[in-house]
Amino acid sequence: IITLAIETSCDETSVAVLENGRRVLSNIISSQIDIHRRFGGVVPEVASRKHIESISYVVKEALEEAGKTFRDIDHVGVTYGPGLVGALLVGISYAKGLAFARGIPLNGVNHIEGHIYGNFIEDRELEPPFISLIVSGGHSHLVYVKDYGVYEVLGKTRDDAAGEAFDKIARALDLGYPGGPEIDRLAEKGNPQALDFPKSYLEDGSHDFSFSGLKSAALNYINQQKMKKQPIPLEDMAASYQQAIIEVLVEKSIRCAKEKNMDKIVLAGGVAANKGLRALLKKRGEEEGIKVQYPSLTLCTDNAAMIGSVAYYQYISGERSPMSLNGVPNLKIKE
Ligand code: ATP
Ligand code: MG
Ligand code: FE
Repeated sequence: IITLAIETSCDETSVAVLENGRRVLSNIISSQIDIHRRFGGVVPEVASRKHIESISYVVKEALEEAGKTFRDIDHVGVTYGPGLVGALLVGISYAKGLAFARGIPLNGVNHIEGHIYGNFIEDRELEPPFISLIVSGGHSHLVYVKDYGVYEVLGKTRDDAAGEAFDKIARALDLGYPGGPEIDRLAEKGNPQALDFPKSYLEDGSHDFSFSGLKSAALNYINQQKMKKQPIPLEDMAASYQQAIIEVLVEKSIRCAKEKNMDKIVLAGGVAANKGLRALLKKRGEEEGIKVQYPSLTLCTDNAAMIGSVAYYQYISGERSPMSLNGVPNLKIKE
């Protein structure tokens, strides 16, 4: 089965061609980051317009790189949420047009599920069940993946997502957008124990996250230093702040794995690119006899290959999306 997959939920126009859901023939990612950077974040109207301008070219490039034509495509997958509705609709409309014109099946995909499936592409031997920690720009979830498409959400953030926590403080420190990679880079040279930031574990037994207290503490610290006309030790600040985020993510992931008797944790989402998080989760996993894996960097951040993988597993389980498929900005993981 040859799947063509489309992802336009945020600021990447991406199209991939996959064989049997796990072999990537092409995965083209056209990022709008340079356009949004000057606004300090994604501007929804601009994102939709850029997707419209790019989509046909990105499809063409994906087909060319895969050595395929429209006639070789058996199946179409597309992100239908969560995300920016205007951005989602560009990909959905294109996908519907293609499926209709060619008379082939269509599968709408949850973007967050897509992040998990980046791991099925990275490691073609990987099979459920496992625990997945999904940390991205808009979401932070701990999910028990029982089987393909069968999930139990064990915990999620009650306020900011992990990626947001990175981006907001990076912005306050004038590190540019998106801030996660910059904090990651600075943190490597800093001391994670230099500054004492709060780590929120919430009530006993909860697998939820909260990063707003940490964010306030960091903003207070930045303001105090400014008022005292003291410089901010950027490397130590980044390392300590990052540590406060990743320690909680890692400990809660380990707890979930133990609670569900799982010996495998799979990391996913844009924040899964964080070097500190990868290293700490690996180390704690080794101590606890839990195998930890994560995708390579391109499969962590937004891409269409991960969407194609979900669409393929939906297809072989007999699922189909109707031609009335619509964008769902706040789409939840189906339990
Ligand atoms: P969502 O998937 O929740 O809809 P999104 O698609 O915008 O949101 P992703 O592309 O999955 O988000 O991830 C982007 C986020 O990942 C940004 O917040 C970015 O700062 C963060 N990020 C990327 N690389 C790193 C890194 N090395 N360290 C920390 N954060 C990172
Ligand atoms: Mg993005
Ligand atoms: Fe994403």
